[in-house]
Amino acid sequence: RAKDKGKNNCQFYTREMNASIEEKLVLLEGLRNALDDGQFRLVYQPKVDLHTGRVFGVEALVRWDHPEHGVIGPDRFIPLAEESGMIVALGEWVLRTACVQNRAWQDAGLPPLCISVNVSPRQFEEARLVERVQQALADSGLAPEWLELEVTEGVIMRDLQQAVAKMAQVRAMGVSLSIDDFGTGYSSLSALKSFPISTLKIDKSFVRDLGRSSGDEAIASSIIGLAHRLRLRVIAEGVETEQQRSFLRENGCDEMQGYLFSRPLPPAQLAALLNAPAMQAA
Ligand code: C2E
Ligand code: MG
Ligand code: MG
Ligand code: MG
Repeated sequence: RAKDKGKNNCQFYTREMNASIEEKLVLLEGLRNALDDGQFRLVYQPKVDLHTGRVFGVEALVRWDHPEHGVIGPDRFIPLAEESGMIVALGEWVLRTACVQNRAWQDAGLPPLCISVNVSPRQFEEARLVERVQQALADSGLAPEWLELEVTEGVIMRDLQQAVAKMAQVRAMGVSLSIDDFGTGYSSLSALKSFPISTLKIDKSFVRDLGRSSGDEAIASSIIGLAHRLRLRVIAEGVETEQQRSFLRENGCDEMQGYLFSRPLPPAQLAALLNAPAMQAA
């Protein structure tokens, strides 16, 4: 696009780049205070069993209520938080908040749910991760079986042996692990078999065109087959249409998550959804 503008190339790029660098700086600056100011909150997206239609878990997803820029999604600030090291403090807040929330739902009499928390590579590699998880469980009173950590293939990429050892420590605590966005990273299939994980999560980029793209159908059904051969459960994210759901169900996928069933919800709305039995029908 810039090419067509001939002489204005430089100006064009400069303006764009300045804008994005400026945005980065503004967000980065804001991140420092956001945690202390209580500007982060979590929303929770149901995970549904594809065979029974029951909600068995939720994924915690962070939102930033920026005082000037409104709600900012994690894709815009998690990478900055990773780069700046802020992710360790933010991630700990997410972990603790999610555990406290899940325990509160259980105390309120909701059917027990497994809560999934996203852990980014830098956070996973941090020396005290295991200790932090243990502390979050102890302080909230949540039993480890109701917590799952979602890690991406990025975690594995950096140092396979160390990643496997860390995963084993998490598993030993009784906390589950899943691989998020599976199929988008570069982890080798041979590495997969050594991971003490319980679930593979099919990335939403492969789900989007189910029913339209035979390539994506081949990938999705292969991941389902692979997961089952490795005795893992498999969940699809980003399920938006009935067609996608039918494909997944017919191809043996175990679980799903997506706007078709529910968007990520604030805690009170999630509780209301689970108390409405009609919403739980498949
Ligand atoms: P993810 O863990 O793969 O989460 C799935 C993303 O897909 C979420 O975006 C979710 O809101 C969105 N989604 C769910 N259902 C649908 C659907 O049917 N269609 C479409 N198009 N999208 C759907 P969100 O909340 O913006 O989060 C984006 C990413 O940010 C997450 O991807 C995760 O990698 C990261 N993230 C979110 N919260 C945290 C956190 O607390 N800690 C860390 N480290 N990363 C987080
Ligand atoms: Mg996730
Ligand atoms: Mg994902
Ligand atoms: Mg993702």
